[in-house]
Amino acid sequence: KRVILVGPPGSGKGTQSPIIKDEYCLCHLATGDMLRAAVAAKSPLGIKAKEAMDKGELVSDDLVVGIIDEALKKPSCQKGFILDGFPRTVVQAQKLDEMLEKRGAKVDKVLNFAIDDAILEERITGRWMHPSSGRTYHTKFAPPKVPGVDDVTGEPLIQRKDDTAAVLKSRLEAFHKQTEPVIDYYNKKGIVANLPAQKPPQEVTADVKKALS
Ligand code: ADP
Ligand code: ADP
Ligand code: ADP
Repeated sequence: KRVILVGPPGSGKGTQSPIIKDEYCLCHLATGDMLRAAVAAKSPLGIKAKEAMDKGELVSDDLVVGIIDEALKKPSCQKGFILDGFPRTVVQAQKLDEMLEKRGAKVDKVLNFAIDDAILEERITGRWMHPSSGRTYHTKFAPPKVPGVDDVTGEPLIQRKDDTAAVLKSRLEAFHKQTEPVIDYYNKKGIVANLPAQKPPQEVTADVKKALS
């Protein structure tokens, strides 16, 4: 299966991704995680991406399309994939269709994590993550066993620099202006499943499984 997750920051895409990945053995590509790794490594890509990310604006289409084009060549991505956080603009969606067409493939399903903006600030400001795996926790909704420590590796958790109420505002603005049209793009193809993402995580997981069955 070739699956895309679309939703505003904090809607639960990263939380559901590993579950979908394990259930269907897909490769999981999260452009946000890839970009953060590049920023941390101070690679040329990271240096170009950092300013926009810090401000909560989108990185240029060319940069992220390049990352995805490269990543989709991995053997583990040939049978299927979950794209988390890509495409975020209509241009990116069109480029993805072109890339897949070349490989004789297409997007099977788009999961739209639908949620009110009002809920997102509490989710985002309470989020903690394990940088190298992308695993996320929440101080109130999904606390780690030991505060500030990853359950699996015992390594320290961090708070993302852009997970503040102020930067969230720009990220939401970018979502409504630039990413919502992506949902329309896929709606015209009839492949969107709308998931109420304000429900508890287990219920969202059940809806995800139903949408993909
Ligand atoms: P979120 O948790 O808000 O969904 P991500 O981790 O997916 O955030 O993305 C963090 C930041 O990385 C975005 O605010 C943006 O600057 C950049 N980014 C990630 N994916 C893309 C993309 N497909 N196009 C442009 N910028 C992106
Ligand atoms: P995204 O990848 O869409 O930005 P995350 O999956 O990282 O979102 O979730 C954002 C924050 O909200 C995390 O701290 C996560 O633990 C928490 N969270 C995720 N799903 C839910 C849910 N259904 N109910 C409550 N909190 C959630
Ligand atoms: P600065 O050097 O400007 O202080 P940060 O250390 O805050 O930058 O990191 C910038 C971004 O990279 C943040 O979004 C942060 O979450 C992320 N980040 C920090 N350390 C790592 C890491 N080891 N791996 C992946 N991402 C990281």
